[in-house]
Amino acid sequence: MIKRPKLTGTGKVRVTRASGLTRGEKFRVKTSRGRKISSVRWLQRQLNDPYVEAANREGYRARSAYKLVELDEKFSFLRKARSVVDLGAAPGGWTQVVLKKAGKKAKVIGIDLLEVAPLDGATFLEMDFTTDEAEAKLLDLLDGPVDLVMSDMAAATTGHQQTDHIRTLALVEVAFDFAKKTLGEGGNFVTKVFRGGADQELLAEMKACFKSVRHFKPPASRPESAETYLVAQGFKKNNG
Ligand code: SAM
Repeated sequence: MIKRPKLTGTGKVRVTRASGLTRGEKFRVKTSRGRKISSVRWLQRQLNDPYVEAANREGYRARSAYKLVELDEKFSFLRKARSVVDLGAAPGGWTQVVLKKAGKKAKVIGIDLLEVAPLDGATFLEMDFTTDEAEAKLLDLLDGPVDLVMSDMAAATTGHQQTDHIRTLALVEVAFDFAKKTLGEGGNFVTKVFRGGADQELLAEMKACFKSVRHFKPPASRPESAETYLVAQGFKKNNG
């Protein structure tokens, strides 16, 4: 059960990584001269967010961990996952969820542009997933068919809607190509997509490769965020 923390005006910060503040650091919610309104709103939202509170309580590195928890509650793809690739893994919240739900037998390989602090049972690469070198390195690390490819990758936004859409779509396409190359029969692919979901051609291709493909926006995904997720289950290797 996720409890909503109380929002107070000033005080000491209990949250650490998820808020970007360090333990014990003082905060002020009231706008002071020179503080941007947007950063105050961000801080208020963090302090008022039950998922941030829960992430700190349960030791997850990011509130985004709960998006995967909720996706799994709906579609149950983690329990039997033994070989998992986590694309856009930093700071490691999704990897933590996999390791917790799938147990010690799970092997996770994560990749991100950013460094990810080590986790037992996971190997992290600090590379751009869209490069040939990254794909080669990942393929090299895998020692058999993958049960789950998941991508929470998001391109840095430019503010130009069309550009952002194209960049995000490109990440989904590269992730999907990788999933087709590496998933074993019956494997699953979970990916973040943005407003409007995947484009029709890509969606049609996914539907041909998997038994079921569903869009779902988990409650932990902020309503104002354009993101949603695609969950493709039951990979048909011969069609992939
Ligand atoms: N699922 C993560 C968790 O729970 O900790 C959060 C992922 S965060 C929303 C998105 C990540 O995608 C960022 O860390 C970003 O660096 C990464 N990313 C974006 N483009 C990437 C790329 N081309 N290659 C690797 N990582 C990428």
